[in-house]
Amino acid sequence: MRKPSKKALARLRREKLASRRETLYKYLSKQNDGIVPCFVCKRHVNPSAATIEHKTPLSKGGSDEMDNLSISHWFCNTRRGNDESFNWENWTKEQRERSGRDEDEEEGADAPNEPAINSD
Ligand SMILES: [Zn+2]
Repeated sequence: MRKPSKKALARLRREKLASRRETLYKYLSKQNDGIVPCFVCKRHVNPSAATIEHKTPLSKGGSDEMDNLSISHWFCNTRRGNDESFNWENWTKEQRERSGRDEDEEEGADAPNEPAINSD
């Protein structure tokens, strides 16, 4: 018997995870009065930004089972990657130090001088 192709398996898995994400999202939302905390940064995740987070990364032997799944922001999920020791607060602190910027000073404070556009 032929095994299903890798592509077909990948698609099935994506579909399975997408449905688990929805189930999990609804479940968490119900548990926390509409708040779905991100597994990584603990802030609320909007449905459109929600991704499936593997508590134990797949590469470290984690599974796609519900007890290993949580919800995180797409951004947080990407940042964390396979690093189980990833700590959001340390990471943001590091980023601030690296950028050497004051905390309250956001970009746009000194916008580059744009040439004035003459309409005529
Ligand atoms: Zn997050």
